[in-house]
Amino acid sequence: MTATPALQSYSEGRWQQGTGEQRPLLDAATGEVVATIPARGPDAAAMLDYARTVGGPALRALTFTERAAILKALARHLSGHLSELAALSACTGATRRDTAVDVDGGIGTVAAYASKGARELPAATVLLDGEIEPLGKGGTFAGCHILASRLGAAVQVNAFNFPVWGMLEKFAPAFLAGMPSVVKPASQTAYLTELAVRRIIDSGLLPDGAISLLAAGPGNLLERLTAQDTLGFTGSAATALALRTHPVIAGRSVTFNAEADSLNCSILGPDVSADDPEFDLYVDQIVTEMTVKAGQKCTAIRRAFVSPALLSAVCDALSSRLAAVVVGNPRDSSVDMGALASIDQRSEVRKAVAALGAAARTVFGDPAKVEPRGADSEHGAFLSPLLLRADDLFAAPIHEVEAFGPVCTVLPYPNFGQLVSAVALGQGSLVGSIVSADDSAVADLLGRLAPWHGRLLVLNRRDAAESTGHGMAMPQMLHGGPGRAGGGAELGGLRAVHHYLQRTAVQGHPALLEALGTERKQS
Ligand code: NAP
Repeated sequence: MTATPALQSYSEGRWQQGTGEQRPLLDAATGEVVATIPARGPDAAAMLDYARTVGGPALRALTFTERAAILKALARHLSGHLSELAALSACTGATRRDTAVDVDGGIGTVAAYASKGARELPAATVLLDGEIEPLGKGGTFAGCHILASRLGAAVQVNAFNFPVWGMLEKFAPAFLAGMPSVVKPASQTAYLTELAVRRIIDSGLLPDGAISLLAAGPGNLLERLTAQDTLGFTGSAATALALRTHPVIAGRSVTFNAEADSLNCSILGPDVSADDPEFDLYVDQIVTEMTVKAGQKCTAIRRAFVSPALLSAVCDALSSRLAAVVVGNPRDSSVDMGALASIDQRSEVRKAVAALGAAARTVFGDPAKVEPRGADSEHGAFLSPLLLRADDLFAAPIHEVEAFGPVCTVLPYPNFGQLVSAVALGQGSLVGSIVSADDSAVADLLGRLAPWHGRLLVLNRRDAAESTGHGMAMPQMLHGGPGRAGGGAELGGLRAVHHYLQRTAVQGHPALLEALGTERKQS
């Protein structure tokens, strides 16, 4: 089985049809209808109520380690459905390499949380956070902090570019924390999320109510949230702002986490010359970030900073590498880069490239022209990789406009002072990378760039063989970033689990507090 023609939602323990207009969702490469999505899903109040009153109690009755064991079995179960999920993933425009990031990466994230939960969390339902602090001179009064599962639902609104990873990287820590997930995928690629949820439900591994799916417009989902619920969002900065300032979210202090867009940078250190291995590592990394998922990664490199002396050499090296990239039907194994998620998305990217064009010139590629292998660019959302060059380091559009596709701009920086100022014009990013073998210069730069970033990668000949790469969000490492990037924090190992737990200070006799550490299983 592949996708259901009319997408269904999973609510109150059963699959349900939506209502209202059915919008066709097209294959990104062929333009054929993959599925339709209804305007409205099941009643949001009933969906949330079931998650809170059936899923939540069932999850909270399990210890952290019991939940981790379920996640482990779930990762194994989903791995058994990899080929089915990968086949449908191609409809989103994804090559097998792209699917590895989304589907394999999502399952890997579940496995990573299973393993972290088993190794680092207790057979308990409440966590002790930190040490017991004496609060009285006589030793009869002290305090500590505990972390307990919130009683609501973890609502997760996701972006179109990671229909599986985007869901699983939020679901796994929420599950481990004992909160039921209510998943609202982006409409464009919701058919792949729906298939993954079907396989999760079919596994029979999860307690009833532990996951719900809203495969439809958001309806009045947000209006129904309470202070015990959480809202995790991934998507554009504009939608993040609308949700953050929503009267219910703001008014009821609903815990809110946003992962928004980001003008990530990659810096070639001034110590590097064109003959150094770091030069090739830098070029390789940019080509990878431009072409994996056709550049539709929130972590992709948008701004490439190099010394003025190497500007032309970097542009030339990138151009010759990009000329060898085969764009085309993602089902063809000889293709390097597939399609954008939709024709609309391609129009958005072309618009963004035109805005960047006010401050940069195109070095490689034509936004209006590409000859895809095994497909055509009228029905498929294909776009050439586009490399731009801006000679003015501070040209505003380069630091303001996100072209969410295979687009990167190279800029020259004369010194670290101006470099850091230019990076800061991006207003906060998910990830930055420095390619350099000069550890002391890197240490200086790291300290100055850290306040603007959620993650920083240092790449050179010593770590390249094992590096997981600029764009890869690893479950062990923080994913999120300040400012424009949304100000949120996901992953980062158990930090993401803590996000779903309420931290409470408990004060009393030290003997009571000590006992909390040993008698953690809730009745
Ligand atoms: P989007 O248009 O903001 O949509 C994101 C999600 O929000 C979708 O599920 C969308 O549903 C939903 N949504 C829109 N309006 C809503 C509302 N009023 N109430 C509730 N939900 C609402 O973003 P996108 O186009 O899918 O994603 C692209 C953007 O995401 C890029 O800017 C990219 O940088 C960013 N992104 C960030 C990360 C990260 O981790 N930081 C990861 C991936 C992508 P519908 O689809 O049904 O409209």
